[in-house]
Amino acid sequence: MEYYSNQISRLIEEFSRLPGIGSKSAGRLAFHVINMPKEQVEALAKTLVEARNNVCYCQQCCTLTDQEICPICKNPDRDQKTIMVVETPRDLAAYEKTGKYYGTYHVLHGAISPMLGIGPGDIRLKELMERLEGDIEEVIIATNSSLEGETTAMYISKLIKPVGIKVSRIASGVPVGGDLEYIDEVTLLRALEGRTLL
Ligand code: ZN
Repeated sequence: MEYYSNQISRLIEEFSRLPGIGSKSAGRLAFHVINMPKEQVEALAKTLVEARNNVCYCQQCCTLTDQEICPICKNPDRDQKTIMVVETPRDLAAYEKTGKYYGTYHVLHGAISPMLGIGPGDIRLKELMERLEGDIEEVIIATNSSLEGETTAMYISKLIKPVGIKVSRIASGVPVGGDLEYIDEVTLLRALEGRTLL
């Protein structure tokens, strides 16, 4: 890309590292940024750096937050004895959008995948087991219905059952391999309400 100045080439290169951004889109974004008012670019850059610096894992549920304990874990109106286990913070957001779930969450940040070499130690399972030493009544496993999600659900239920805590799995009907984030709220609620004991 020698026909662009170095700075523009670098900007395009940085954008093309983002997921889902090909070289064409990266070019479009780069030129868009260059034509933006300077203050807007500065605000964008500042927000990016601040978010990266300040966002951390909630010490209780492991979701992303900018506080030690996230607002959901802190909320006294949430049922702290029910934990819904999800794969990503985006799955958590999908259930929050339904506005009908009043328990707390646990975010695994992934799923077990022997194919990809992701084992139980690579997701936030240890943190979940530690939480179960407290006063917990039910763990709802809401991992995806992909092979990895099902493997993870089975693994977790085997771990928890001996502890004597109720373990349930959201109903299938959530499309196989479907990203929970893109499933409509009615389907999510149906999956939650139709959960079965493991
Ligand atoms: Zn939390």
